[in-house]
Parts: sequence; structure tokens; C-alpha cells
Amino acid sequence: MELNSKAHFKSKFDEERMRLLEYKRSGLEKVRVVSVGGCLECIDIMGKVLTIDDALKEMPLPVKECTFKLHGKIPGWCRCRYVVYFDDPKLDIPDSYYEDLKKKRVSELRQ
Ligand SMILES: [Zn+2]
Repeated sequence: MELNSKAHFKSKFDEERMRLLEYKRSGLEKVRVVSVGGCLECIDIMGKVLTIDDALKEMPLPVKECTFKLHGKIPGWCRCRYVVYFDDPKLDIPDSYYEDLKKKRVSELRQ
């Protein structure tokens, strides 16, 4: 039998959707995608900021093309998640922080 946790895409999708709706309900407007240690597909959207409405439309998480494999064989998901984005330089971690993490991760993955 082929191990395929991509079959759980729907539940993962619903989970992320619920999280966004919850953020929206509590009055938040924007989120940032964080994909620390992500695969090449996931790291591509590292640091992306979008409105919750756009996130609900585009649903960037879970990343459909994610190539994560648990123990190198069981397909699953990288630890991508949304963090609240306040649109306030005093509260948000600067974009450059995520750009640096992304660059480092990409060079790690290309080794
Ligand atoms: Zn991934």
C-alpha cells in the first residue's frame, strides 16, 4: 500500500481556513506566511504578507506542491504557518529577517 498523507490535504486545508476565519473574526486584517525549514516549494512564499481576505481566496497554505517527506519517505507537510501581521514596524518583524532566512534555507537546500 502506498503511504500518502497528501490524502489529508482536505483536513489540512480546512484547518488553515478555520485559522484564517478565526483571525478575521477577532478583527485582524493581515497575515504573514512563515515557513521555517521549509522545502523549496514552501520556502518560496516565506515572509509573504497578505490580507486575510486574499489568503482565504488564494489559500497559500497548505502548499499544494510541498515536497516534505517524513524520515525521507512519508509525504507530509512542512511547518508552514500564518503569523499575525500588524502593519506596524514597531510590532512586526522586518521583511529583511524573513528574506535572510529564505536565502539561507535556499542555499542549504541547493547544497
Ligand atoms: Zn514544503
